[in-house]
Amino acid sequence: MHVAVLRRVVGTTVKEVLVGPFDPSDELGPTALSTSRIVEGAEMTMDIVLQSASRSITLAGTASAPWSGLCSRCAVHVSGDLTVPLDELFVEKVGEDDDVYRIVDDAIDVGPAGREALIVGLPLLPLCQPNCQGLCPSCGIDRNEASCSCAAPKDDRWAALDGLRSLGEEA
Ligand SMILES: [Zn+2]
Ligand SMILES: [Zn+2]
Repeated sequence: MHVAVLRRVVGTTVKEVLVGPFDPSDELGPTALSTSRIVEGAEMTMDIVLQSASRSITLAGTASAPWSGLCSRCAVHVSGDLTVPLDELFVEKVGEDDDVYRIVDDAIDVGPAGREALIVGLPLLPLCQPNCQGLCPSCGIDRNEASCSCAAPKDDRWAALDGLRSLGEEA
């Protein structure tokens, strides 16, 4: 978006609500870290306030988009609307620090700031409900819907000791 008007008088603020495709270049697939991702083809809404300083523009507000993923305990589909806060700085000149957003020809591209904040804000371990009971590791039954008679899971810390014990018996 063009920011020439904003920059003419330092301290000018502009409020904008922008809606556009979250992933216009179709480059942002799911990450290996988590099953959660922004819904494919979804729109991103940015509700922002821009304010000019002498050689920079600050962006504050929120970005939101629908997301979906799998419950990290029972693997059912979960989805919702993700809204994340934005607090970004766009600068005219970039010195040593290349990791900042730029003002180029009196214009800024706010999309990347919204996309980045949304991706960072995705839940790493989504849950279908806060107290999801998960699946039984023995029989796979969904403990939210039914109970089973499997024994309580064995404490892994004793597994190594079991190995030692059986070796001793063979000797
Ligand atoms: Zn669950
Ligand atoms: Zn079970």
